[in-house]
Amino acid sequence: DQGKPKAPVATARPDHVRHVVVVGSGKGGVGKSTVSLNLALGLKALGLNVGWLDADIYGPSGPVMLGLNTPPSFSADKKMLPPVAFGLKVNSVGFLVDADQAMIWRGPMASQALTQLLTQTQWGTAEVPLDVLIVDLPPGTGDVQLTLTQKTLIDGAVVVSTPQDMALIDARRAVTLFDKTQIPVLGIIENMAYFVGADGMAIEIFGRGGAQKMAQTLERPFLGEVPLDPALRQAADRATPLRDGPIAERFAAMAKALWSDL
Ligand code: ADP
Repeated sequence: DQGKPKAPVATARPDHVRHVVVVGSGKGGVGKSTVSLNLALGLKALGLNVGWLDADIYGPSGPVMLGLNTPPSFSADKKMLPPVAFGLKVNSVGFLVDADQAMIWRGPMASQALTQLLTQTQWGTAEVPLDVLIVDLPPGTGDVQLTLTQKTLIDGAVVVSTPQDMALIDARRAVTLFDKTQIPVLGIIENMAYFVGADGMAIEIFGRGGAQKMAQTLERPFLGEVPLDPALRQAADRATPLRDGPIAERFAAMAKALWSDL
């Protein structure tokens, strides 16, 4: 049944959200959270009203990456009011429960929690709608990802992969999942594409160009490559995302291309 949708597709976005974009990866550790957060910041830099939902139940790193330790408060109508960090409205599965607990959730529990985060957060209002909600999905292509796509109308997906064959095989599966659920893949991003050493030479640690080649083969837009850069790792550790410099500019360019396709 390749290519056929497996289940009905959702027809509504969360209230007052104009576009929902999910960021997925075939496997963990390829930099999906890093890329999704920086894409969200890139969209923000375009002057848009942007939300970022860290839905990675296996490692909700969002609050740590942003130095956020106050969970959302609640509105009179019991909606979660997302804290704002670096101009982004943020919610995270890490605010709901501690990370160890989320990891052992069974599929239905995880799906329920994520649906709640998506739909019960006050991302925007009638006066000030959210332009884009970026959702950092859990890695992989299981039931949790599938259910989420059936609960909310999703405008598009971005798939992150390293250039390593092992990661690419799984990334291809992520593309297939989005095809089955009729979510357009708006871009593939190659993370950790190379590393520039002190001598200025680029070292292609995981090989380079694999994700770009995959994008060509599958006829999906290639949004760009991101090098392995200690600045990105430090930004996460210091809870201060990069907002200028070459890496931030790269993400801004990718965000611009993504926005133009929405
Ligand atoms: P995932 O969400 O796919 O599990 P993360 O975004 O959490 O991956 O990234 C895994 C680790 O690699 C983190 O420590 C992160 O800071 C680091 N990292 C990700 N991308 C880069 C990069 N391009 N350069 C340097 N470090 C990176």
